[in-house]
Formats: sequence, structure tokens, C-alpha cells
Amino acid sequence: MSTATGFASLSSNTPLVPFSYNTQGVLENDVAIRVTHCGICHSDLHHLKNEFGHNLWPMVPGHEIIGHIVEVGSSVTKFKVGDRVGVGCYINTCGKCEYCSTKRSQYCGRITLTYNSKKPDGSTTYGGYCDRIVVDHNYVNTIPENISSEEAAPLLCAGVTLYSPMKHWGVKSGHRVGILGLGGLGHMGVKLAVAMGAEVTVFSTSPNKKEEALRVLKAHHFVLSNDVEEVKKLRGSFDFLINTISGAAINLDLYIPLLKTDSTFIFVGVSPEAHSLHIAPLIVKRIALVGSLIGSVEDSQETLEFCSKNNVVPMVEVLPISEINTAMERLERNDVHYRFVVKHPPSVPKVN
Ligand SMILES: [Zn+2]
Ligand SMILES: [Zn+2]
Repeated sequence: MSTATGFASLSSNTPLVPFSYNTQGVLENDVAIRVTHCGICHSDLHHLKNEFGHNLWPMVPGHEIIGHIVEVGSSVTKFKVGDRVGVGCYINTCGKCEYCSTKRSQYCGRITLTYNSKKPDGSTTYGGYCDRIVVDHNYVNTIPENISSEEAAPLLCAGVTLYSPMKHWGVKSGHRVGILGLGGLGHMGVKLAVAMGAEVTVFSTSPNKKEEALRVLKAHHFVLSNDVEEVKKLRGSFDFLINTISGAAINLDLYIPLLKTDSTFIFVGVSPEAHSLHIAPLIVKRIALVGSLIGSVEDSQETLEFCSKNNVVPMVEVLPISEINTAMERLERNDVHYRFVVKHPPSVPKVN
């Protein structure tokens, strides 16, 4: 056993506090990772407020984890000590069901999430706001050399959450894609869709995001989504609309008519409120209304490789993990450009 040190939540709506715990021993299929960086996902904030109502305290959030392997189990041949690796949203599944056997293990009914979840042995999982994690190597990704650790971290949740549905439903060159919302997920959606050759339109309520969306993220068009008349002008123009907004429900009766016949509306953001819509526009244009959950471990590896090849990386703000509560407060106010990544202090070499 070794000690992990970082930050934990001890109750609902209270700041994270310094926390240490003994990690499990490294079993034959496991690797131990010295965590160097961890992205802050919006769902971490939802968890800190216990919005899903199933918190297991103490809770160590974090599921966009990058670090170096410091120990490998006796059966592990794919990784060696020193490798730079990543861990995303889940760390165990049944391995046998129809989803696990077809590279769709994010839909396994016996999934163990990276934090706030129970492992098959009954112990609680702790995430990447601590500096050490021990996981089964089958849920670990290799990080391509040309992506920095801070830029790689958000690819393991925000990146794959957009890449996986775009791949599944076949976004390709020439498609017209609309991205609803320009936050952590949305900005990855823009970058990935542009790299796939699509013509990309951003729908955002923030006029101050326009310049960067066009110049830096390379979106082709920017539409202020609260200008309903401007939005309506785009009727029948899109092959895909991807909703990344998680704060509130959107007006589907406004957006569905923007799609072409045989097109797809994809939900990746989850709003606390229910959506309502009129069904007729779906029927008359054979439009599919679909959802997608993160991506599999294989999808994450593909996302990393696609991003490595196409120079797609998230825009991040890096803070030392000692400032984790500042990051959370700013995320709460949407004051982030576009993803926070916290950095653990360098490890002190052991003297034997
Ligand atoms: Zn996430
Ligand atoms: Zn399964």
C-alpha cells in the first residue's frame, strides 16, 4: 500500500479539503500511476453539490487524469514504469456483456466509475484530485508524445464525449455541423468537427466568444442563439446539431427545423430540466434525436490519436492543485477559458 495525497469533499456544498488515503496494492492486472495533471469536468462540480444525490463521502473527484506509471502488476505487458498514461471516466466493467465485447463498455450495466463509485470488491473509488491512483491497465490510455499533459487531460472526458458520437454517426468532410454551447465540451466539438472537414456553426449566447470562435477555434460561422430571427434563417441547413449545453433545457422546437432530411440531433449535455418538443418536424424529415455517453476506452485512445495527428488540443487554464477551490468557484461562475486543469506538485524522490 502507498499513500495518495490530494483533496476531498467531505459533505455537500463545502470546499474541498486536503486528504490522504492508502491506495490498494497493485494486483496482477493493475498499474499504479503518479498523477501529474487532472482536468476539472463540469460533472465534478455537480458532484460537489451532491446534485445526483448519491455521494459517497469522503469523495475525491477527477476523471481526466494524466500521470506516469510508477508500478506495474505481474501480468501487465502493455505498459512499463515511466510511461505517460491517462485514465478517463471509468475504471472497471464486467468485461463479458454484449457492450463490453464490442468496444462499447461505457454502456456496461456493471460499470465502475473513476470516482464516487463502488468497485466489485466493495471499496470506494477515488479520482484524480489525488496524486496516486491504482487501476486495471485495461482502462488506461497511452498519451501521444506530441500532446502535453495539461492538454491531454480534457481529451479523456470532454474530448471523447464529442469524438465518440461524431464517429458513431459519421460526421465527415462536407457535412454542416452546428454546435450548441461553447464551453468545455462545445469548444472541443468545434475543433474536432473542423478537423473532420465539416463546416461548423457555433450557437452561443455570448457575443464576446465570437471572435475567438472564428479566429482561434476556426469555426466557419457564429450565431447568437438568443437572436431567434437569425437562428430561424438557418432552417433546413444542418446535417448534425450537437447540444453541449448542460445548464438548462433548450428550445427544441426552434432547433429541430434547422436540420435537413435524414439528419441527426445529438445530445451530449444533460440538463436538469426535461425537454419538450413537437414531433411532426422529426417525422416529416426523418430526423433522429439521439444521445451519447462519453466514449469507450478504445474511443478515448482513438480520440487521443486523432488529436495527435490533426493537432487538435483543448484550450486550458492550468492551476496548482492547491488552488482547486478557486478553480471550482470560477467554474461555478462560468469564468473559465475553456477547461481548468490542476497540476500536482512534483513528487519528492524517495531516498532508499
Ligand atoms: Zn467529465
Ligand atoms: Zn459489461
